[in-house]
Amino acid sequence: MATSPQTAPQDAPAGEAPLLDVRNLHVEFRTREGVAKAVNGVEYAVSAGETLAVLGESGSGKSVTAQAIMGILDSPPGFVTGGQVLFHGQDLLTLGNEQRRRIRGARMAMIFQDALSSLNPVLSVGDQLGEMFRVHRGLSRKESRARAIELMERVRIPAARERIKQYPHQFSGGMRQRVMIAMAIALEPELIIADEPTTALDVTVQAQVMDLLAELRHEFHMGLILITHDLGVVADVADKIAVMYAGRIVETSPVHPIYAAPAHPYTKGLLHSIPRLDQKGRELYAIRGLPPNLLHIPPGCAFNPRCPLARERCRVEEPPLYRVDEQRTSACHFWKEAIGVDRAPADHP
Ligand code: ADP
Ligand code: MG
Repeated sequence: MATSPQTAPQDAPAGEAPLLDVRNLHVEFRTREGVAKAVNGVEYAVSAGETLAVLGESGSGKSVTAQAIMGILDSPPGFVTGGQVLFHGQDLLTLGNEQRRRIRGARMAMIFQDALSSLNPVLSVGDQLGEMFRVHRGLSRKESRARAIELMERVRIPAARERIKQYPHQFSGGMRQRVMIAMAIALEPELIIADEPTTALDVTVQAQVMDLLAELRHEFHMGLILITHDLGVVADVADKIAVMYAGRIVETSPVHPIYAAPAHPYTKGLLHSIPRLDQKGRELYAIRGLPPNLLHIPPGCAFNPRCPLARERCRVEEPPLYRVDEQRTSACHFWKEAIGVDRAPADHP
């Protein structure tokens, strides 16, 4: 039951493969404590020029899915045990390390939460950016430097010509994140995965970095996967949303309907935990309980121990992804109830 594929929508126009199409992906970590099932049949797709936001609490398998897509899974202990990662219709999981390395950076790139640990501390920012052009494009030192300055200007780092000589630690958090974005877009990849790119930044800087990402995605017509645990930041930038829980997709939707009427009690809980300016003083709603231990995912619906709508069926039968309408799916047996009841789950008896 746990390994049954989730029936996700096949939205791509007939005859045209989406840029990225992840199918029935399974990843597990083999640890001394046991096998942690981190990704359990994830399916999502992204087209060129489209932004998919992937949401879910910490530990829901968002990053591990991204690492499997990029081919940077920590292995061992992590292993992809099933599924496909189709990039222009080609399954990346069947490629060798060298072929995957060539795709990484040049055709798909990743932006991480913590630029300080992903940039090289002993190389100047200019050398790191320039290296992309020397290694991948065979440009001369001088040409590479000029391209590095252009890139820094493109991500709006002030005084790029001077700052290019500086080291990562000499940049503020927001500026460092811009450097990492510059590295990611240097070779004009078709797909960018941004994993909590603004989580470590303060709110104003968050918005600026998010705007920059959205703008670049538009300019280069890239596919963008934006991983976040914060529903608040995605409304303006994402086209569609996939919500993850315990390594599964539990809801998919275009952005706007999900805010109006989530079709899964878990999404509803996430929505209610966004601080709202119009409800100052109201206690923040948090989903009760904790995410499951991935060594022992509850049978049936993994969310059932925390779910206000749960009943016997939820404890025994794992829900497939039900089709809510043409564009939406929900892995809740009682999605009609979830979508129709306009109260926080906590308000239920
Ligand atoms: P998130 O949704 O917060 O990005 P992750 O994808 O990072 O969650 O992790 C999902 C789960 O995968 C973790 O809770 C953990 O159980 C497991 N996991 C991730 N990385 C490792 C690792 N290097 N070793 C063992 N288990 C891991
Ligand atoms: Mg993560």
